[in-house]
Amino acid sequence: MDFANKTVVITGSARGIGRAIAEQFAGLNASVVVSDLDEETVERAAGEIGGTTVGFKADVTKAADIDKLFEKTVERFGRVDIVVNNAGIARDSVMVRMAEKDWDAVLDINLKGAFLVTKAAARIMMKQRYGRIVNISSVIGLKGNAGQANYAASKAGLIGLTMSSAKELASRGITVNAVAPGFISTQMTDALPEATRRQLLERVFLKRPGSPQDVAAAVLFLASDEASYITGQVLAVDGGLSMS
Ligand code: NDP
Repeated sequence: MDFANKTVVITGSARGIGRAIAEQFAGLNASVVVSDLDEETVERAAGEIGGTTVGFKADVTKAADIDKLFEKTVERFGRVDIVVNNAGIARDSVMVRMAEKDWDAVLDINLKGAFLVTKAAARIMMKQRYGRIVNISSVIGLKGNAGQANYAASKAGLIGLTMSSAKELASRGITVNAVAPGFISTQMTDALPEATRRQLLERVFLKRPGSPQDVAAAVLFLASDEASYITGQVLAVDGGLSMS
């Protein structure tokens, strides 16, 4: 795969899975926009990644930030070919104890954020008659999980958003797909209690946590020209976890 002359915007990409996605795209000659909440952090990440990478700050819950993100991207690179909706958080607790603000925060960032980004990106991609959108869902969005009602709802919602936008945008040369990672080693899963980590790992058929690079490889495939006949799909990258 080669992404020369392609511009990629990845939300929440200063660290974790988003960062690995940015690194792999940069390694295959893409122009990369790393985007996250903090200006200094994104600029540092862009410098570390190297290649043709820039860092633009954007909070995905703020439509004005997103408009600015795409304005700056077009100003800098002239187009937006690929967008990865990766920004996401978890605020876990059993439902009867779940604070309304934790429900709202997770749905706002994980689902509404992806809607706002997709809407802004689609306007540009429709004019180009070309685009690739990849949404980072989760195995939890496919199967649910006790203690993660907000997260599961946001990630299942993202699958609905993927399929609907795939149908709306197909005629303009835009594909929209989702990746559903399982248990991936990042700060998000490092924060889980040891017992939860052990229980999860027991259900992974490949008997190891995934790496951010495992997820990135699937994202790059779905964003490539090799995947031009694939749209509206959900690709699990989970070592078999979703079969358990
Ligand atoms: P991390 O917590 O390591 O990274 C998430 C990134 O998103 C951080 O850089 C964070 O910024 C950023 N972010 C948070 N809120 C916003 C916002 N409002 N606007 C823009 N960026 C924001 O998570 P992972 O790398 O593990 O997860 C990446 C994606 O993959 C998420 O959508 C997650 O739900 C999904 N996923 C992860 C799995 C795993 O096992 N790790 C499994 C399945 C799905 P900051 O550093 O400032 O907080």
